Amino acid sequence: MSNIVIEGKSKTKFITMNNGLKMPLVGLGSWQSDNPEEIELALEKALEAGYRHFDTATLYKNEDSLGKVFRRWLDQGKVKREELFIVTKLPWNAMRPDLVEKFLKSSLARLQVKYVDLYLTHWPIGLIYTSDDDLIPMKDGKIMYDKTTDIEAVWKAMEAQVDAGLAKSIGISNYNIKQVERIMKMARIPPANQQVEVQTYFQNKALRQVCEKYNISVCAYGPLGSPGRKTYSFTGIEFNIPDLMDDPVVKDIAKKHSKTPGQILLKFLVQQNIAVIPKSTNPERLKMNINIFDFELTQVDMRRLEGLDKGEAGRSFPGFTDMKEHPECPWFMEKVSTPRR
Ligand code: NAP
Repeated sequence: MSNIVIEGKSKTKFITMNNGLKMPLVGLGSWQSDNPEEIELALEKALEAGYRHFDTATLYKNEDSLGKVFRRWLDQGKVKREELFIVTKLPWNAMRPDLVEKFLKSSLARLQVKYVDLYLTHWPIGLIYTSDDDLIPMKDGKIMYDKTTDIEAVWKAMEAQVDAGLAKSIGISNYNIKQVERIMKMARIPPANQQVEVQTYFQNKALRQVCEKYNISVCAYGPLGSPGRKTYSFTGIEFNIPDLMDDPVVKDIAKKHSKTPGQILLKFLVQQNIAVIPKSTNPERLKMNINIFDFELTQVDMRRLEGLDKGEAGRSFPGFTDMKEHPECPWFMEKVSTPRR
């Protein structure tokens, strides 16, 4: 799995997943980028900067903007489809076997491609399906959880998408250790990837070890600590945002290598074969985020960064109101205590 190769023109290195397909180690995140002009420009700049891995989700409501730019680049012959690594996710309200194909086909139509490279179940939790567009259905101010979610049955429907050629690879997101083990017990096609929060203050080591045991590659979301995160009223839970880029150890290592703190945070993960999908719509920052393959962190640097792990206390994505009442709730934080440094 951790077999890394440098590919011709691309700016990034790759992880070879358990199905033999390659995932670029650095991709572009796109959560909270639903302004069409902004995301289209960012995507153009990212493609120019050498990005080939793009992370989206039905929930982000930007698949159509990404699709427009992909189509332009493909039609103009500036990139081949097989050079792109496009990831999208099954939303919570479609976390049912009978809805998987329908939702994936809608994503493909918006992305203007015949297949995605990786299709993920966004969360192990399902919400009540009311309509295709009502992605977070609410009643009387409360999220409408579907407590009958059957993650094994959904996984079978995910496997059918590989058989049908609509997804090259399938994976999971936000699954805990027990849920990974349950999927591994029944899977005909094991997950190729798990996308979870991994950042310097929350290194998520136990879950990563289990993924490694089962040869499931890991992709880190929030690798910079998600500093632009907005509090959404529907989450009903306050959270603190870790100030990773201001950490004295990170700053010190950045200075030593003449790099930015953001580049050090990303390199720390990539050097452990963890894929990263930093979100940026800023042309300079997104360029910076992929230019991390011209230096190596020393063993001492790695040890110092490992030492910043706060375990569970460093987790910064808290989940949602009443989520713990769902039988598949993967974790729950009563009170977020990520300290600001
Ligand atoms: P992130 O990538 O850690 O942080 C993004 C924020 O950092 C943005 O506000 C961005 O602002 C800023 N930024 C980017 N590069 C920077 C740099 N070099 N220096 C300083 N600031 C920088 O957090 P994220 O967006 O939450 O996570 C990354 C991606 O993971 C998401 O976009 C999404 O695709 C995915 N994700 C998945 C899940 C899941 O449940 N599977 C959950 C969360 C996120 P500018 O745009 O202004 O640069």
